[in-house]
Amino acid sequence: MISPNFYSRFKCIANTCKHSCCCGWEIDVDEDTVDYYRGIDGDLGKKLDENIICENDEYHFRLTEEERCPFLRQDGLCEIILDLGEDGLCDICALHPRFYFFCRPDQSIKKISDQEETDSSEDQEILDEIEFGGLGLSCEEVTRLLLSESRPLLFIDDSETTFGMSRILTMLGCDPNAIKEYKPDVSEKRIDRILKIFSKTEPIDDDWIRMMDELHTNMSIGEKCSKKIKDFDALKYQRIYDYILYRQLERLPDHEIKTLADYAEACCDFIFICSSVYGDLAESVRRFSEQIEYSTENVDIIIDSL
Ligand code: SF4
Repeated sequence: MISPNFYSRFKCIANTCKHSCCCGWEIDVDEDTVDYYRGIDGDLGKKLDENIICENDEYHFRLTEEERCPFLRQDGLCEIILDLGEDGLCDICALHPRFYFFCRPDQSIKKISDQEETDSSEDQEILDEIEFGGLGLSCEEVTRLLLSESRPLLFIDDSETTFGMSRILTMLGCDPNAIKEYKPDVSEKRIDRILKIFSKTEPIDDDWIRMMDELHTNMSIGEKCSKKIKDFDALKYQRIYDYILYRQLERLPDHEIKTLADYAEACCDFIFICSSVYGDLAESVRRFSEQIEYSTENVDIIIDSL
């Protein structure tokens, strides 16, 4: 598997996390875990029984009125982990914030279709797939890890070889020159366009609506962006750009690499605007990811608007 080189350093910061992933999201519970929870006795078993809802044959935890997972204690610790250990978590909780996807190099796509007429073996397809893994930026600890270094973002494979984004694009049969050297465009026209595009996305909460209204009516936004560009951290933004692009590689070959590069650029422009206005780069990245990267529909809206 290929993953960013900070992947193995990730550790959930649990009760010190300010934006816990156990709040605000509906958490699906897989059937195997539901079966396992049904065999749990005592107070925890009773609470699990009362707080797992089945809707349309799918299970999820019943959120509290404050939209928190019912097992998230006020001190920020998880009751399930405390009682059953990490092995007691359902698949989604055990996986988050990790993501995985497979990509086939252009070359092997051709190889497979060449073969189809004579040999429909699926082994060839599996052999040629490359597995990619990563950590989602909606998690503040992941954002911290991404921004903790001011040097080019590196990825690592199972043989512990490290390389950059251009090598990944080459592996996938894409033009490595598609990767842009990110630099924000702070022209009034571009800021206006970026805000219009991001306003079209489906809001995940009321705070997003409020923030977009505020940005649209902020008369000094251009001035703030022009001021911020003077101390623009090119290396950090390039890491953000590369990582945003990396996460969307699974959209190959349905999208051209150039389209995905344009998407990553637009997302970085949006992050730059937010960080210029609100002054917090890490939170701007996290908030962007929460709103966009966890919704296929929202990613599509941005790509289709470019
Ligand atoms: S958002 Fe990240 S650090 Fe915070 S609770 Fe979730 S996994 Fe842990």
